[in-house]
Amino acid sequence: MKSDPNSRWPETANRTRVEASAPTAGKKLFVKSYGCQMNVYDAARMADVLAPEGFAETKVMEEADLIVLNTCHIREKASEKVFSELGKARLLKKARKAAGLATKIAVAGCVAQAEGAEILRKQRAVDLVVGPQSYHHLPRMLRVSDHGPVIDTEFPIEDKFDHLARPSEEKIRERGASAFLTVQEGCDKFCSFCVVPYTRGAENSRTVEKILDEAAILARAGVREITLLGQNVNAYRGRNEQDEEVSLTQLLYRLAEVPGLERLRYTTSHPNDMTDDLIRAHAELPVLMPFLHLPVQSGSDRILEAMNRRHKAADYLRLVERIRRARPDIALSSDFIVGFPGETEADFAATLSLAKEAGFASSFYFKYSPRPGTPGAELAAQTPEEVKIERLARLQETLEAQRRAFNAAMVGREVDVLFEKAGRRAGQVAGKSPYLQAVQVEAPEELMGRVAPVKIVECGSNSLFGRLTDEFSLDAPMRETN
Ligand code: SAM
Ligand code: SF4
Repeated sequence: MKSDPNSRWPETANRTRVEASAPTAGKKLFVKSYGCQMNVYDAARMADVLAPEGFAETKVMEEADLIVLNTCHIREKASEKVFSELGKARLLKKARKAAGLATKIAVAGCVAQAEGAEILRKQRAVDLVVGPQSYHHLPRMLRVSDHGPVIDTEFPIEDKFDHLARPSEEKIRERGASAFLTVQEGCDKFCSFCVVPYTRGAENSRTVEKILDEAAILARAGVREITLLGQNVNAYRGRNEQDEEVSLTQLLYRLAEVPGLERLRYTTSHPNDMTDDLIRAHAELPVLMPFLHLPVQSGSDRILEAMNRRHKAADYLRLVERIRRARPDIALSSDFIVGFPGETEADFAATLSLAKEAGFASSFYFKYSPRPGTPGAELAAQTPEEVKIERLARLQETLEAQRRAFNAAMVGREVDVLFEKAGRRAGQVAGKSPYLQAVQVEAPEELMGRVAPVKIVECGSNSLFGRLTDEFSLDAPMRETN
């Protein structure tokens, strides 16, 4: 996978290297992210790397000098969306040009990685195509693109994290009290339905030192909750300061010591990498929130095998039991795929049965989408679309009923809420419960960025409603920061 760290130039692209010109001040950057949380994190890092080039972020595409579509390739629908958005961006570029304004369009993320030069053929208005491992090359690519379209979808030898600019404290504060931090990228599992190993490459873990450093910077700027990200986060194997291998569990214990950090989460985990010590950490570490996203995909052993998940349904259920024994109040969520090639009604019934037995607080469920280049797409017995639609509806009914029941059971309970932003109505502040539920509370704005105890009084369809407990005082001390 590794190759020349320099950019790759397509047939149609400019091959001339251009010397760096002076940064252009006062430019606007619009980034639209699709798909997973890692893309949200990457979008922030792209903004950080472009800030020293004079780019300030805007939420209005029309006023952007640089439009970045940070794409997702996981399902066909996600990829298709990009091309309709590119059509819009092309018209905008034309209209701005008529008004004497230059606009550049960049396609980033996993579609960029998977389709490369094909994107330039499909949409000629695109100026840059940049894969997820090359964001640190964006400033140079921008300059080169003055002379024609440019592509960089290599997996460079250098670590992009070493070259990505750090956000300012002000920028971190703007982004809120809850932050993502990528600790691991790529995947070696090769589930037969999934493009991730091809678009994000082999598993690669960041060093403990760099992660602690980034966490400390975030906490000093007011971040109270960090979600560690990785396509296969519990397979994390980084090196510590002594060059020893460190597991996700050991990393979590180190992060728990970062002054100011009150909450830790991690996602997404593979069931086979849920080790005993990681389960124990859920019992021992108060900062580790009682919520775990643990995708199972299917409840049928036959389908799990065809998916190359390398565990059986009963293994998953036993794992759930062990996790609950260690942390009885833990809320679990999962991903499900319906209609994988060859899935029979009996296989699907096994999925429904597993969902009922495990009991999830929330879940994501998808129709199987054949992805080019994956083994699943080559299988002859593709499930008809109408069967997928019908099974998805039945699974949705079960999982949504579980979600509603879990949320309804919160009424009357007291939970700690991390307040993050203004609420839906005036006078409300919105936050997150330990179980990742949105909570709306009538409270002073000063609460933003703080954790406070809340009594849940009502359960809506997408949020809980609560009030601050009588004992709470705004003058209560927070955990020490550096
Ligand atoms: N690493 C995680 C795991 O092992 O479960 C999953 C990461 S993947 C980015 C997120 C979810 O997308 C998967 O859990 C799966 O449910 C879904 N997904 C991936 N490929 C898919 C496909 N071809 N069709 C439908 N859903 C898919
Ligand atoms: Fe994709 Fe997750 Fe399987 Fe890796 S473990 S191939 S990211 S579904």
